Amino acid sequence: MNAQREQLEADVLIVGAGPAGLACALHVANLIKKYNESGAAAKGGPQLSAENIYVLEKGREIGAHQLSGAIMNPKALAELVPDFEKSAPLDTPVTDDAALLFTEGSSLRFPITPPPFKNKGNYVISLSKVVKWLGGLVEAAGVNLFKEFGGAELVYEGDGIAGVITEDKGLDKNGKPKDNFTPGYELRAKVTVLAEGTRGSLTKQLVAKKKLDNINPQSYGIGIKELWDVQPGRIQTGYVAHTLGWPVSMDMYGGGWIYGLSNNRVSIGLVLALEYGNPQFDPHEAFQKWKTHPFLRSLLEGGKLVRYGAKSLPYGGWYAMPRSYVDGGLIIGDSGSFLDSQRLKGIHLAMKSGMLAAETILKR
Ligand SMILES: Cc1cc2nc3c(=O)[nH]c(=O)nc-3n(C[C@H](O)[C@H](O)[C@H](O)COP(=O)(O)OP(=O)(O)OC[C@H]3O[C@@H](n4cnc5c(N)ncnc54)[C@H](O)[C@@H]3O)c2cc1C
Repeated sequence: MNAQREQLEADVLIVGAGPAGLACALHVANLIKKYNESGAAAKGGPQLSAENIYVLEKGREIGAHQLSGAIMNPKALAELVPDFEKSAPLDTPVTDDAALLFTEGSSLRFPITPPPFKNKGNYVISLSKVVKWLGGLVEAAGVNLFKEFGGAELVYEGDGIAGVITEDKGLDKNGKPKDNFTPGYELRAKVTVLAEGTRGSLTKQLVAKKKLDNINPQSYGIGIKELWDVQPGRIQTGYVAHTLGWPVSMDMYGGGWIYGLSNNRVSIGLVLALEYGNPQFDPHEAFQKWKTHPFLRSLLEGGKLVRYGAKSLPYGGWYAMPRSYVDGGLIIGDSGSFLDSQRLKGIHLAMKSGMLAAETILKR
């Protein structure tokens, strides 16, 4: 649609306020603060301000698009916010980390927990709460955070990108403007950072247009997740288990998880690579079956489902990571495939990739 668009100019524009985008924004703001305190601008360096960092989030609230109940490796957060333990809403440290082999009617705990399933030193968290908290730090650092603003198109310039156009508001279901129609903004920036998470729409456009694919194209997994409040005494706070086997056949890549939060809340789920051979296999049905296993049944019986959701994960690994840079643009977090599927961990890698992007930006 050819609409008259308002143009705004930023130094750094970050699309997506998940762990990657927010860590990037906070680290850029912290580096700018250090730069200004060093007096570099007074000695002829450029004037920098956190106010010229914009973050766009399409969700209604910061953290609204996160699936709660995750295990976080704290090492990136400890670098970003050294005293994070004082204020971050960490639910509980991990107190036990089991690996369980399921057959249809029984479960066997591995005598030794294989390294990818070791989680001592990590925290069980609600990711939406941690992201919300991080968003508060970003705003307090002076960054402009815009909720309910989705990036709809990239602005291409020269060999690279120079910003995004945000989505138009006030369209009817056929895409026709209503009375309250407001055209999206053209937000231009010296650097645009794509932190859209898995299967980001702008990232996909950019990867295709600039041929950034690695030797393998990206492949995906799906994680189906539920949060339950269970009867007291059913699970120890901080107990985490990963399950292998039934109902997932041994030629498939995936398994289940059970994470014990505080106050008898449990995060459970099944995660599966989407390249399974049997076209009639249904991951949602498999998850429902998995919940009927005696181990899960004795945990959940008498409990209450609190929330549920499902989301894809970039599962392609090293050889599917797209090139993470173009002129004027960087790709971070799940958008850049920074996820360790074997450990089911992406939060700390998303944060670290955001911090490395921040350092790269300030070096320009
Ligand atoms: C079921 C499941 C369980 C998981 N469990 C764990 C775990 O226990 N531990 C762990 O470390 N990792 C886990 N992960 C992975 C982890 O959640 C991700 O790696 C991490 O959230 C990636 O962060 P991100 O910032 O790159 O993306 P996201 O967290 O997906 O955030 C992206 C943000 O960008 C916004 N956005 C997207 N497109 C646009 C746009 N065009 N304009 C504006 N905003 C946009 C989205 O609304 C979202 O808020 C799990 C993933 C899944 C799916």
